[in-house]
Amino acid sequence: MDAAEFRKRGKEMVDYVADYLEKIEKRQVFPDVEPGYLRPLIADCAPQDPESFEDVFKDIEKIIMPGVTHWHSPYFFAYFPAACSFPALLADMLCGGIGCVGFSWAASPACTELETVMLDWLGKMVNLPEEFLAGKDGQGGGVIQGSASEATLIALLAARTKTIKQVQSEKPELTEAEIMGRLVAYASDQAHSSVERAALIGAVKIKSVPSDETFSVCGSALKKVLDEDKAAGLIPFFFCATLGTTPCCSFDKLLELGPICNKENIWMHIDAAYAGSAFICPEFRHLLNGVEFADSFNFNPHKWLLVNFDCSAMWVKKRSDLIGAFKLEPLYLQHHHQESGLVTDYRHWQIPLGRRFRSLKLWFVLRMYGVKGLQEHIRKVTGNGLLGCLWWDGKGRRAGCLSTLHGFCTPQKAQETVLGSSVQQGCCSFAPCKVTISYHGRIKGAIRFVLIFRKEKSWNLEFLQYGTTQSLSN
Ligand SMILES: *Cc1c(COP(=O)(O)O)cnc(C)c1O
Repeated sequence: MDAAEFRKRGKEMVDYVADYLEKIEKRQVFPDVEPGYLRPLIADCAPQDPESFEDVFKDIEKIIMPGVTHWHSPYFFAYFPAACSFPALLADMLCGGIGCVGFSWAASPACTELETVMLDWLGKMVNLPEEFLAGKDGQGGGVIQGSASEATLIALLAARTKTIKQVQSEKPELTEAEIMGRLVAYASDQAHSSVERAALIGAVKIKSVPSDETFSVCGSALKKVLDEDKAAGLIPFFFCATLGTTPCCSFDKLLELGPICNKENIWMHIDAAYAGSAFICPEFRHLLNGVEFADSFNFNPHKWLLVNFDCSAMWVKKRSDLIGAFKLEPLYLQHHHQESGLVTDYRHWQIPLGRRFRSLKLWFVLRMYGVKGLQEHIRKVTGNGLLGCLWWDGKGRRAGCLSTLHGFCTPQKAQETVLGSSVQQGCCSFAPCKVTISYHGRIKGAIRFVLIFRKEKSWNLEFLQYGTTQSLSN
């Protein structure tokens, strides 16, 4: 394909994508295919001779689309709302075109510098304390990770390195392995599985802290486990607070937890992967109060802020802590001041070496929607300014509505009914989660709000779309 053909095909592809998104609700949200459906449809090995673009293009509808789950369908309510916008799609195209691999400043100065500035913009939008911003000579700053899981892992590894160094300086007789064996990380019993996974990869113990009746971790619950573990000779070093848990969007009590972590010298990381985008609205910003106690904070613009996957924004107060975890100690000490200077080498902030020019997506989206446009987007999808969760008891009765929660909850039977019938019909897609005794799926909060209620023996789904109601009965 030469540039002339690329121009032509590129335009065709843009039309195809625009058509796909414009008419997506006509497609069955969850495909009918069985595992292994694809292999018989394509050749056993790559073609020896080149094929034409037409040949490839016609196979999209024939081979790919029948096996696609349409995440952007208005009937998709599973997992989480994945962001998608035209400005971000265009930025991704440019990113591919430039095709740089910006692991260091010199590897592509614009790639590094735009990222630093975009993370400052975004940090200011959620009103992060100044310490988290890079500014001209700050000690903190932001980085784009591929996912919230990577952000948690990196925070945990940084905390691990920092604690090992501290303990070794106080008790030089202890080996690194002895210290590692005593380190404990903590997170809510409602925390995302990626937190436990980070501890597994980081080879440290992790304990869950029991959440209260609103599924939030409060200070006393953390204090209790810390006291027990310290008395048993363990070394608490990391606490991951969640703002907007996966099962029901509960919020841990940062204002109680933060001071405890600071006092006990425990790294506090905040995982706000899902709910974090809402903090750009002043009416939701109070949910982030207490971030000033944290060492690191993360949320996913790729969930709710119209930036296509992947774009997970992470900030740290002290970039030297983060960088220190991935460099040898002598270098870490030597570079301590240099790192707060003008040059950032993002390869030290992440696990892989290579990195894409992802900040272009943020740049396009933040400029083309503006803060007001993005706030409007969040408000539209949270209904009347409510990050809400409807709560159901074991008998299918509505048991309550928690105003800071975002998700919905049904008894197991309802969940099975919904999953069983509607997914089979392909009209809706849900993902189940377990919260204590109830089951629920999280709403695709980015587009609409779902109520499930019982009517005689059937279940009715009601979709509130920007205030209009559409009913589906089964
Ligand atoms: C979605 C989510 C994650 C995982 O996000 P990835 O970016 O896919 O790793 C972690 N924590 C919470 C609270 C989430 O909502």
